[in-house]
Amino acid sequence: MTAAPTATTWLDVPPGHPFGVHTLPYGSFRAAGLPGPRTGVAIGDLVLDLTAASAALLPGRAPLFAAGTLDGLLAAGAGAWAEVRAAVTDWLTVERFRPVIEPLLRPAVTTVPELPFTVADFTDFYASEHHAARMGRLLRPGGEPLTPNWRHMPLGYHGRAGSVVVSGTPVTRPSGQRRDGGGAVTFGPSLRLDFEAEVGFVVGTPAPPGRPVPLAGAARHLFGVCLVNDWSARDLQAWEYVPLGPFLGKAFATSVSPWVVPLAALAHARTAPPPRDPRPLPYLDDTAAEPWGLAIDLTVTLNGHTVARPPFAAMYWTAAQQVAHLTAGGAPLRTGDLLASGTVSGPGDGECGSLAELTGGGTRPLTLPDGTRRAFLHDGDEVTVTADAPGPAGTRVGLGEVRGRVTPAVPAV
Ligand code: MN
Repeated sequence: MTAAPTATTWLDVPPGHPFGVHTLPYGSFRAAGLPGPRTGVAIGDLVLDLTAASAALLPGRAPLFAAGTLDGLLAAGAGAWAEVRAAVTDWLTVERFRPVIEPLLRPAVTTVPELPFTVADFTDFYASEHHAARMGRLLRPGGEPLTPNWRHMPLGYHGRAGSVVVSGTPVTRPSGQRRDGGGAVTFGPSLRLDFEAEVGFVVGTPAPPGRPVPLAGAARHLFGVCLVNDWSARDLQAWEYVPLGPFLGKAFATSVSPWVVPLAALAHARTAPPPRDPRPLPYLDDTAAEPWGLAIDLTVTLNGHTVARPPFAAMYWTAAQQVAHLTAGGAPLRTGDLLASGTVSGPGDGECGSLAELTGGGTRPLTLPDGTRRAFLHDGDEVTVTADAPGPAGTRVGLGEVRGRVTPAVPAV
């Protein structure tokens, strides 16, 4: 029997908790006294050891969690995703499971998050019109804010999967080439280190090369969402990005949240994307398709001070369109692919998901409550992105947080 989505848990979780029983995000963790990494489910301020719980109560699916990551579950497909979510919901809401489940819960603060899944390919899109237009004005002053292709397809670049790290991992200031205002080319630690608040979509079911996934097929392949901070060195980026796009300026670290929220938990967050003009080509035209906009509200804090509240609902291109476009060219999807949205920015001044936008390219530094100013990030700065979205019956579905602190550049040898 599957509990209703608004069922109450026997646990002492406040109804308004973002990790209520309607959320149930998956992650990977270590804890003292437990061997290896474990697959976990967050419930309130606790973590359920899903590796142990599945062995006891869902033995047919337990092999998916034996390795302690989400890799097995991601690859198992939509049928397994629904079965496991229904089982975990039952365990946390039906009293008779309490004697087995209660000993497998531990305070989240006593656990150490691991990267939740093996990142296969990392693609970063550029799906916010507001972000793309502001960056266009900064990078190409006097020109058209958007390039001629922008409204015709979801633009992106292939990033570096090996530098994706879990929230809490320190981020070392990168070094690279930059060109100063006088034209001199030098090498050294980035002087314009930035964050990019994004939402990442995690691929579960693979798709073979040369087999385009239509808009209606995205739900079969996308498992869930996480938060992403795509750290960016603007000085390196500005010098290197012509003609092939981002390279070392974005290859040193990309942070992801420890908890992956299944798309099943975001059904109440679905919303119509903004109108598109011109109407996209047929393989991207979602006019008559199910809406893939998501009303996820992000908050960005710098050293604990809120600097932006970017609205994901304002994104021009959706995850379904990104999957359709990526695979239309012949690319396969692999289990563990991370498709990030690109910086989430809304139309308002306080809705920008990057410092480059918030400070006008560094020309209007922010003043923090301690009186210090920021055009770009200083060593020691900590950036945290949190988010939530509408859930059933007025609840909120939390996406948790992605957090990272900047540490000084490695000295040159
Ligand atoms: Mn990005």
